[in-house]
Amino acid sequence: MPQAEKWLVAGCTALTVGLFAAALLASDRAAQVFFDNASWTLAFLLSAFLAWRGRVQASVVDHSLHNGLLLGALLILAGQLMWNVQVATDWNPFPSPADALFLAAGPVWALTVMRVTFQRIAPDRVYPTSLDFGGAVLALLAVTLVVYVPSGELKSALVGAVMVLYPVSFLTAASVTALAVPSVGVRWRLSHGLIIAGMVCYGLSWMHWNLLALHGELAPGSWFNGLFSLAALALGWGSRYFQAELSNDAAYRHRCEQVVNLVPLATMLMASATLWLLFTAAGARSVVYALILGCCLLVLVLAALRQAIVVSLLERLRMAEAAILRNEEQLYHVAHFDTLTGLPNRRYFEDALDQAVQLAVQQGPQSGQCVAVLLLDLDHFNNVNETFGHRTGDKLLVEAAKRIADHLQGRGFLARLGEDEFMVMLARSHTRNEVAQLAASLVESFMQPWQLPGVGAQFVGASIGISLFPDDAPDAATLVRNAHTALNAIKDAGRGTYRFYIDEFTRQAQGRQALRRRLHQALQAGELSLEYQPQVGRRQQLVGVEALMRWRLDGRMVPPDEFIPIAEASGLIVPLGRWVFETACRQAAVWDAAGFVVPVISVNISTIQLREPQFAQSLLALVHEAGRAPADFVLEITESELLDESLYAAAVDLRHMGFALSIDDFGTGHSSLIKLKRLPVGELKIDKAFVSDICEDANDREICATVHALARTLQLEVVAEGVETQAQFDLLVGMGCHRFQGWLFAKALPPEALQAQWLQRAGAQQPPRGDEHDAIDACI
Ligand code: C2E
Ligand code: CA
Ligand code: CA
Repeated sequence: MPQAEKWLVAGCTALTVGLFAAALLASDRAAQVFFDNASWTLAFLLSAFLAWRGRVQASVVDHSLHNGLLLGALLILAGQLMWNVQVATDWNPFPSPADALFLAAGPVWALTVMRVTFQRIAPDRVYPTSLDFGGAVLALLAVTLVVYVPSGELKSALVGAVMVLYPVSFLTAASVTALAVPSVGVRWRLSHGLIIAGMVCYGLSWMHWNLLALHGELAPGSWFNGLFSLAALALGWGSRYFQAELSNDAAYRHRCEQVVNLVPLATMLMASATLWLLFTAAGARSVVYALILGCCLLVLVLAALRQAIVVSLLERLRMAEAAILRNEEQLYHVAHFDTLTGLPNRRYFEDALDQAVQLAVQQGPQSGQCVAVLLLDLDHFNNVNETFGHRTGDKLLVEAAKRIADHLQGRGFLARLGEDEFMVMLARSHTRNEVAQLAASLVESFMQPWQLPGVGAQFVGASIGISLFPDDAPDAATLVRNAHTALNAIKDAGRGTYRFYIDEFTRQAQGRQALRRRLHQALQAGELSLEYQPQVGRRQQLVGVEALMRWRLDGRMVPPDEFIPIAEASGLIVPLGRWVFETACRQAAVWDAAGFVVPVISVNISTIQLREPQFAQSLLALVHEAGRAPADFVLEITESELLDESLYAAAVDLRHMGFALSIDDFGTGHSSLIKLKRLPVGELKIDKAFVSDICEDANDREICATVHALARTLQLEVVAEGVETQAQFDLLVGMGCHRFQGWLFAKALPPEALQAQWLQRAGAQQPPRGDEHDAIDACI
């Protein structure tokens, strides 16, 4: 808090207390009234000032809550000013204009909190939470009424209603705020306690004030009158530091859920206590009596209804989870084993290799632990396919798998990567020599002829590329790449032998370092640009674009797959990512100004950006600067990264601000689909690796179909990436895919080309691009 503000607040607080003390000490009734009102006016003024300071310094996510707090504080201040005028002119109607202003504050607070709560909770929690809120309000109304009942006849229905409304509206605001904290899973702070205490204090003070007024016992200059100022100060301080930050702590969120589940019990207890009070109270009025009974019964009905909804929700959730688990198992099998040989497939192998490398890293270099990969490729396998047909080719592959497995005798992990490529991983401390011996004996075992049914003995040799961790590569992916490089080197030099990867490594490492240095200057040098790849619907009409970064270095295009990992490893992705988003925003504004219908733009976001403090706010600021709305953008985040629990709050913030979220490269990560269900995403992008072989590979087809089935369960849209042929497109349409991206429709285009070939002028009708797909659409 700035120094000037500190002094101002301290001075005003001291003056408020001083005026209150003066009211206590004064003996003349007129002086007591004056000091009371002066003290209240100052306290309400201070409360509004603090709420305004809180609003100014609040983060964007909390703006609407702060607006509500400030508006409520201003209404109370306005009510007090009105009251002062009424006192000065000795005009004392009840209810009066001041009452209308005071009374509006509670509902403003309660409605603001409810609106924000419903925006932030999952859609299936909306009904139970509304019933919780409703039950709490009714129970409070019943309790308040029963307190007034013994006071006998109220002058009129209007007077009675206003008197009851005072405590009910403030206590409602307090209980709604207290309920919202666990319902949303907001981290508890002292400021929340102060706000709730302030609201409760207003409610109870006004209730007591009304009871005193009812019995004609109102006394200026009493201790009790100080409670209003105390409530104002608590609310002011609470508003000044108020923050509604979602908690990432799973244990805390679980406790929150337990608390929320106790709410119906609490409201039912309140209703029962009210009924007991009602029957023991004397002189109840029949209308009020009926009202209280009605409230209590409604509380019971709401609590029962809420429980019924929660039970049916749990049942639905259980069934969905069972379905997801079934799908997950199925997905696991087709995703991890090769149907032809029964061996682990590429994905399974990569997982196992990742783990082995991580283990070796943990054990440290002293342990001597190394990981070797041997990539075995059948020499001229295509000749077998072409001469004897694919069936014979398949038989040879099955035989080859058996021969390698027999030869290994349990040493190492064998997998089939695809086509005629097999991979062996050795994950213990092997010397280069031992690995070489194994490779040599494997190559030799392939010298024996193959007995293929109907074809007879055939000679098909093998070549092996070898790469070692940590000597040749720092990670699993590079290890595999290096084995490929070594294998290619043998293929170039005549086959039938093995080779280690050594020289290539140094050359590539130097290249990467040079790239890193140049990437630092790329932004300033204006070497970066964005291209936009169209995304189309089933009729091949434009439905969005994906912004893709391009780097032109000395006249050569550096592929993003080469420079993005470097940017991520060096942290440069943060300024680069910001530049990408800013450029996309500006481009959208330019298209808009030129009269084009601006497509929704998907932008790739790296987790390193997502972990930046205030990341969501910075994106929102860029969007506003360009005069666009968050809903004009989809943020694409890679599957494996988005499932990290610690990023959950950042994702919720982005969604809350209005950005759409998409899971990129779906299928390549290790999705726990149950976790996925909790995420605020609206879209899955099937990785192009699955789409590319969808026509030939039954596994990939199965995976795509399962992903679609899952997406339907989770109510997500599916975007298929890397669609290159009409046949792939037709298959995906048949599976129920909604959107498509790929070279069949267009490559990524510079903005001018996209504008000329794809964008429509606002107001113009967009003709379908592929009429033949109308028929497909009509069938779906
Ligand atoms: P991605 O997000 O999966 O982007 C899609 C990639 O698939 C693009 O490659 C695109 O050109 C390519 N593609 C689209 N259709 C087809 C097709 O029909 N066939 C084939 N074979 N490929 C197709 P690109 O532009 O090379 O980008 C590669 C990756 O680099 C992206 O993969 C993304 O992960 C990353 N990337 C690109 N721009 C950015 C960026 O601005 N920020 C971040 N963080 N990453 C980016
Ligand atoms: Ca992407
Ligand atoms: Ca992708």
